[in-house]
Amino acid sequence: MRFDLHTHHERCGHAVGEVEDYVLAALDQGLDAIGISDHSPFFHSDKEQADPGIAMEKREFPAYVKDVLRLKEKYADRIEVLLGVEADFLPEGVASYRRQLQKYPLDYVIGSVHYTFGRNIFDRDRWKGADDEDLFKVKEAYFDLIAASARSGDYQVLGHIDAIKGFCPEITDIQTNKVENALQTIAEEQVAIEVNTSGKMKACGGWYPSEDILERACFYGVPVTMGSDAHHPRRVGDDLEAVRAKLKDIGFTEWWLFREKKPVSVAL
Ligand SMILES: [Zn+2]
Ligand SMILES: [Zn+2]
Repeated sequence: MRFDLHTHHERCGHAVGEVEDYVLAALDQGLDAIGISDHSPFFHSDKEQADPGIAMEKREFPAYVKDVLRLKEKYADRIEVLLGVEADFLPEGVASYRRQLQKYPLDYVIGSVHYTFGRNIFDRDRWKGADDEDLFKVKEAYFDLIAASARSGDYQVLGHIDAIKGFCPEITDIQTNKVENALQTIAEEQVAIEVNTSGKMKACGGWYPSEDILERACFYGVPVTMGSDAHHPRRVGDDLEAVRAKLKDIGFTEWWLFREKKPVSVAL
C-alpha cells in the first residue's frame, strides 16, 4: 500500500496549493491513501491568528475540515482521503487543543514539538553562537517534550521526532540518554513515529528521524508511518519507496495508517 500522511496546503500561510491539488498529486503518484494534515490554529492563544504565516486562523479550521471531508467523498472511488491535522505539542496548550480537536471527525492527529524554551526550532537565529552546553540543554528539553507528547494520549503520530537537528545538524552528536528514554516511552504508549522525508529540505539533509534512531525504535517496537511533510504538491509521496526499503532493511515488517483514530497495520 502506498500512502503519505503528512501534507499541508495554503491555509497555513507557508505552503502552496489547495487541498485538492494535493489529492490530485497523490493520484498522480499512484497513492492508495493521502492524509491531509495542515498545521492546526494556535488554539491555546487568545488571538484569532497568533502567528500568521505559521498556522491558519481559528475560524478557518471548520472550513478546512469541511473541505477535506468533501474531497474524501468526491474521490472515494479513486483514493482514500484521510482527515488529519498537525498540532503543536505545547504543555500549556494541551487542554485547549484537546477541547477543540475532539469536535471533529479526525482520522489522526500528528503531535509535533516545534518549540523549546519559547522559540521555534526552525528559527535559524536561535542557533547562532550556541555552545555545546546550550545544545545539550535544548536537546534534553526537546526529547523530554517528545516523551511527554507520547504520554499525553492525544496523538496517533509523533511528527519528525528529531527535527531539532533541522537547522542545527551538529546537535545530532550531542550525547544524552533522553533520546533513548523518549523511544522507550513511545514504545510503551504505542504511538507511531513518522519517517518524515522533509529533512532533505533543511540544513541537516536526509530524513527525520536519523537511521540510528529508527534502528533503536525498531528494537523497542515503536510503530512507524510515513509522511513527506509536503508544502508543495510536487513533494507528495516524496521518497516513499526509499522509506519502505529502508524500514524493511532495518527490520520493520509493517507500517501504520489511521482511520477514525484507529491504527491500521499494513505490511511493508
Ligand atoms: Zn509547515
Ligand atoms: Zn512540523
